[in-house]
Amino acid sequence: MSDVRLRCIDCNAEFGHDEVIYSCNECGGLLEVCMDAPKATFDDFSKRAFGVWRYRELIPIEEGAEIVTLDEGGTPLYRCDRLAKWAGVRSLFIKYEGRNPTGSFKDRGMTVGVTKAKSLGSKAVACASTGNTSASLAAYAARSGLTCYVILPSGKVAMGKLAQALMHGAKVISVKGNFDQALKLVMDISRSMGIYLLNSINPWRLEGQKTLAFELVDQLGHVPEVVAVPMGNCGNISAIWKGFVELEGAGLIREKPRMFGVQAAGAAPVVEMLRKNLERLSPVKAPETVATAIRIGNPVNWPKAVNAIRSSSGLYDSVTDDEIIETQKMIACLEGIGVEPASAASVAGVRKAVLSGSIPKDSEIVCVCTGHLLKDPEEVISVCGKPIEIPPDLKAVSEMIRPEKAPQLPA
Ligand SMILES: *Cc1c(COP(=O)(O)O)cnc(C)c1O
Ligand SMILES: [Zn+2]
Repeated sequence: MSDVRLRCIDCNAEFGHDEVIYSCNECGGLLEVCMDAPKATFDDFSKRAFGVWRYRELIPIEEGAEIVTLDEGGTPLYRCDRLAKWAGVRSLFIKYEGRNPTGSFKDRGMTVGVTKAKSLGSKAVACASTGNTSASLAAYAARSGLTCYVILPSGKVAMGKLAQALMHGAKVISVKGNFDQALKLVMDISRSMGIYLLNSINPWRLEGQKTLAFELVDQLGHVPEVVAVPMGNCGNISAIWKGFVELEGAGLIREKPRMFGVQAAGAAPVVEMLRKNLERLSPVKAPETVATAIRIGNPVNWPKAVNAIRSSSGLYDSVTDDEIIETQKMIACLEGIGVEPASAASVAGVRKAVLSGSIPKDSEIVCVCTGHLLKDPEEVISVCGKPIEIPPDLKAVSEMIRPEKAPQLPA
């Protein structure tokens, strides 16, 4: 893949694919990985296992590289008729990223990012994280024998995610600050100490995450009208959009979906910027939301996300914590799909948009549900309450299971 290079999205300066840089040397802009459109078809892909590496020709990792994998991607696309009814739309699918090896879409990015770290000869990797990035990086670092450092905002990381980072042997550093501060620190550290940085500012990660778009076309057999994605640091929506753009460039699809970016109301700088039609982002100083995975006030990838939304004639909105929690419960009770709060934001945003008329009722929509319910058990207990305790006797149990006490599902 001699045609692979890094390109600045602002000034178009190009850099070699084996340079260890995370932003443009000329202007500081974000980088993206470019390659010539490959010659491959969905028929070729279908001969391989369903997952990230099915789309090998579209992933710009050099031939012969030792691939670090835990069989990521290949996640289910659930048709959700009851949830569609609740949201008021004809057709709604959930792309369930909770089914990845460590329980979030971050694994799609890490299989490529850690493979790249290995082929560049790095010995140590690092990230700042609201939780899932660290869980995923810790696992892939363990898989490949790399040392892993993670910097977390203290007290704000969901228990399941912290457990993963610790058990997979990462060196976990907790800073008394928020994610944005943790990211600034880890960027400085990686530059000064030569540790390979695997936050989503690293464009190689997005090369793995873009495969979600390929899988959607594989699973549906066509392109959906809308793809809704929760936005935190904004890498994922950018990556998925890049995936669709590349499919079009390779002649594999003819139209692209509208991208719908959803943020939490307490951490919605991109939505604010788009609402006011501004040219630059003003960061939210003290982001706050129950959806800790998207509790980010200064998303590094905002220019890419804004481009994805604007060039797809897309949509954007913010949803409150109450809306997130209600939607999380609906996804779980109506469909049997367990997602963490950030994931529910995509569905909550879709329901709002259908109610307000900005998405037509007869649309076909895919909501990306980014992470697994078990990531954040403490949130569950706080919104569902603890189970009722009774003495171990028949009378007390029968009291509890009388039909009028059965849980009521929404009609
Ligand atoms: C990381 C993450 C997000 C946000 O993705 P970005 O690429 O940072 O926008 C959303 N949901 C979950 C569960 C995540 O782990
Ligand atoms: Zn530049």
